[in-house]
Amino acid sequence: MHESTDFQQFQNTVNKYLIRHRSIIDITSKLQETNAKVNRALAKAITQCGCTSIKASKQRYCEVKSLDSAHTCLKTHLEGELCPDCKEILASEIGHNLFYLAALCQVTGLSLEQIINEENNRLQTLGYFSMT
Ligand SMILES: [Zn+2]
Repeated sequence: MHESTDFQQFQNTVNKYLIRHRSIIDITSKLQETNAKVNRALAKAITQCGCTSIKASKQRYCEVKSLDSAHTCLKTHLEGELCPDCKEILASEIGHNLFYLAALCQVTGLSLEQIINEENNRLQTLGYFSMT
């Protein structure tokens, strides 16, 4: 089990090792590329490995007593579970994506941790009214 890392520590580590792609042009294009690789990893789990599949149709909204239970009748359209190999690949690609997200924060003077905390507070304060 790995030690937990806070986001500021992660951003500091990214800053330390962000050497080759330190230009904002490289960072934004790598952020986009790594995002595509996240999607590609999921696509490969479906079309090449086959451990999971997509079965999509129009969402059917059911009557619920509260919005807290609305998720019980809404589908993700994802069937099956990722196998350990696909899960590892997807997690790795998400990690690379987070690297460049933290890098973008670093070079623009933003704090990834502060952004996450503020977004979390906004969600908790506004609840369902914050949904876009
Ligand atoms: Zn798989």
